[in-house]
Amino acid sequence: MFHFYYGVGRIQPNNLKHIDPAVAQAIENEKNRQMNVIELIPSENLVSTAVLEAMGSIFTNKYSEGYPHKRYYGGQEFVDVVEELAIERAKRLFGAEHVNIQPYSGSPANMAVYFALLNPGDKFMGMSLAHGGHLTHGSAVSFSGILYRQIPYCVDKETEMMDYGALKKLAESERPKMIVSGASAYPREIDFKAIDEIADSVGAYSFADIAHIAGLIIANLHKSPFPFTDVVTTTTHKTLRGPRGAIIMCKQEFAEKIDKAVFPGLQGGPHDHINAAKAVCFAEAMKPEFIEYQKQIVKNAKALASELMALGVKLVSNGTDNHLMLLDLRNRGITGKQAETALDEVNITVNKNMIPFDERKPYDPSGIRIGTPVVTTRGMKENEMKEIAKLIVRALDNINNAHEKQKIKEEVLGLCGRFPFY
Ligand SMILES: *Cc1c(COP(=O)(O)O)cnc(C)c1O
Repeated sequence: MFHFYYGVGRIQPNNLKHIDPAVAQAIENEKNRQMNVIELIPSENLVSTAVLEAMGSIFTNKYSEGYPHKRYYGGQEFVDVVEELAIERAKRLFGAEHVNIQPYSGSPANMAVYFALLNPGDKFMGMSLAHGGHLTHGSAVSFSGILYRQIPYCVDKETEMMDYGALKKLAESERPKMIVSGASAYPREIDFKAIDEIADSVGAYSFADIAHIAGLIIANLHKSPFPFTDVVTTTTHKTLRGPRGAIIMCKQEFAEKIDKAVFPGLQGGPHDHINAAKAVCFAEAMKPEFIEYQKQIVKNAKALASELMALGVKLVSNGTDNHLMLLDLRNRGITGKQAETALDEVNITVNKNMIPFDERKPYDPSGIRIGTPVVTTRGMKENEMKEIAKLIVRALDNINNAHEKQKIKEEVLGLCGRFPFY
């Protein structure tokens, strides 16, 4: 099935092997790596071969600056078909008034929103990076913290959950021009309605970034930020299980500003091959199987979380409502970086992550972040989650025991072998 990578548009299967054996080999090796690890990075997923086929298609050859029926280049009749399909499907999936499918990825999508609604130097509120926010929600090292003035909001120190009362107070004293909601490392449901009401009450725009949880929202497992939120962005490659990319959705009143910010404000020609794959991903997301998939993601996360806690692992906020969880390693005498390395050695892939009120630095923080979208796509269920929890805890308890790590790795390979893909 991988031959779409090897032969452009199937013209010559296995062409890449002959043209560029080094890259062909790296792709083959990466495929084998993906098959032989328990992939728990919560922002990743495994796309369908239909999505891969659209991504590897000849739409990559086309230039199509502009929007459907308003382009700056000729030959757009089929590009328009694909872009309009993607827009219509996204509108139906989310109940959005207006959709722009052209953003290259999540960070550029967010940049377009800032560019559309704020002026450089304007004040906005976003969740602190250490408390689960994304870099583009105002981190000092991101354009969002360099060009604009971020007022960070935090989770409650006791519950490690969103504190809407504190958020409201902060909004009232700071009077930001925009409030960004959504997160990359927050294991609980977010009340977008409450945040929108706070934004309204201080005359701020509401902007929800649902990159991680878009699939859960489509499946009605988490409350939607529609129709009340002014602007909503999502990546298409996380729980949505589509190509690497993003879309922006907004109320009709912001449509023109958003479209102009994307093109010509920030981007040139859209990636039509990726946009074709976004259309495919949205069609897949309309199927009942997709809803079942999202439900299983959450069931698996709950099973993994409860087994980890039963084995004595401290989870931030003591659990999860979504597809991910954060392990707080402070009581185990190891750092996030050490845990990531030890788990890598046994073929379990995770990422080190800051925890709320972390006293360590991002490169070697106190936690790790894990999630269930990939293992659920592979077909694993609650029983496998229990196995995985045990393997994780054994690896964390044996970071200096090479013999035990070898045994764990063999068990991981056995588990992976039972759930092949591609
Ligand atoms: C992943 C993510 C993004 C950024 O997406 P990229 O495609 O990596 O640029 C933006 N916002 C949130 C909340 C995310 O989790």
